[in-house]
Amino acid sequence: MHIAVTRHGSVTVVAPHGRIDQDTAPMLDAALSEAEGDNGHVLVDLKAVPYASSMGLRSIVACFKILRADGRRIALCALTDLVAEVFDIAGMTRVLRVFPDRAEAIAYLTTSEMTATAAAPVSAGPAVDSSDAAPSANAHAPTLRMIFWGTRGSIPKALGAQDVRAKVRAALEAALRAGLGPTDDLDAFLETRLPFHLRGTYGGESSCVQVDTGHAEHMLFDLGSGVRRFALDALSRHGSSTPQTYNIFLSHLHWDHIMGFPFFVPAFIPGNRIRILGCHEQLEFALRRQQEQPCFPVDFSVFKADIDFRVLTPGVPVEVAGATVTPFRQLHDGDSYGYRVDRGGRAVVYSTDSEHKMADHAEVERFVRRLTGAHTVVFDAMYSLADSFSLKEDWGHSSNVIGVDLCRMADVSRLVLFHHEPIHDDATLGRILDQTRRYEEINRGGARPLEVVTAHDGLVLDI
Ligand SMILES: [Zn+2]
Ligand SMILES: [Zn+2]
Repeated sequence: MHIAVTRHGSVTVVAPHGRIDQDTAPMLDAALSEAEGDNGHVLVDLKAVPYASSMGLRSIVACFKILRADGRRIALCALTDLVAEVFDIAGMTRVLRVFPDRAEAIAYLTTSEMTATAAAPVSAGPAVDSSDAAPSANAHAPTLRMIFWGTRGSIPKALGAQDVRAKVRAALEAALRAGLGPTDDLDAFLETRLPFHLRGTYGGESSCVQVDTGHAEHMLFDLGSGVRRFALDALSRHGSSTPQTYNIFLSHLHWDHIMGFPFFVPAFIPGNRIRILGCHEQLEFALRRQQEQPCFPVDFSVFKADIDFRVLTPGVPVEVAGATVTPFRQLHDGDSYGYRVDRGGRAVVYSTDSEHKMADHAEVERFVRRLTGAHTVVFDAMYSLADSFSLKEDWGHSSNVIGVDLCRMADVSRLVLFHHEPIHDDATLGRILDQTRRYEEINRGGARPLEVVTAHDGLVLDI
């Protein structure tokens, strides 16, 4: 075996030629160690590797751990069928990013903002997951990773037959216009020729967002219907016999933020620990009550996991799953609480069900301080600015435009529009995103660009 090492900007490409087995793995170890010393990302091009044993896999995983520790990435590309099968069986493709070719892998490694669309592992299925299987939630984030399991506001929203038909029809029209033939690349067509609102769908499930800190304990925000899919993903990865700890922060106790808990399978499994945290005194009361007769057939007492409740004080940080989480009070009927998560110099803010009247300067400044220094802010953009200031004033929600303004004041890098209005279909949400980006552009002035994305169920963002 020989190994070619080349450099492409910040990426060191390690390309072994030949079998990786017990005899040749030390050569790969040495090449990867050298690549680690380059202080950039690493791509392992496996095009000329007909076989890789567990020794070879170990070398790559060891490199992955070293790079991850200081925020760098490793990716794999061009796996032969046999090697891909080995990697799948070993669970490697659940941890590492795999790309069909070198160009795509380098694009991923050199792009700081990563979404499921841009960088889903080849084996992880479609970026927008319409099944019960997980989105690409398995790899660990360098510092923080947000995985959106539920993004719809107020009530879950399913696509109807007419909605699906309209998407199929529009896609067929686009295919005919493009002269798509039987030998053309369908995935490339979907990605490049169809807008997201046609090839996918935004939020169907109600609020639930995972923040992966790389720690063994899980961290979640809200227990909307999206938590059911999170649970299925967690069980598929950890099984039911390995006890897990779930730290779940609740923004508030409105139904759309707690309705998923009766379907949260880990709560039925003895040995699991579930810690529910929030600033409302009635945390436990609300979760128990939603499972009482005559509203629900399965009583809370059926749960076999060790479930405890912890009432937090706004402004007082807590250390959870390797990160510092600070709750803060927001304007919403009965109060809601946003959360700032800090880890390793990076921060994200989860702020849903929050109205911003923008009239009280002191209040605006207080909120901006919560956001300052954060990379990504998940923001309640349920209404239009006009509605939030008029018809729906005091309904407890905010708008995309306010989100841009507040994030700009705080010099945030990325705004995530969240808690979508159930009335809005995918085309409308796509249009709102375009409009928000245009608003950001128009109002940018000399400031650095603010990235704006719309959350959808299955979206993965690295920070
Ligand atoms: Zn809500
Ligand atoms: Zn609410």
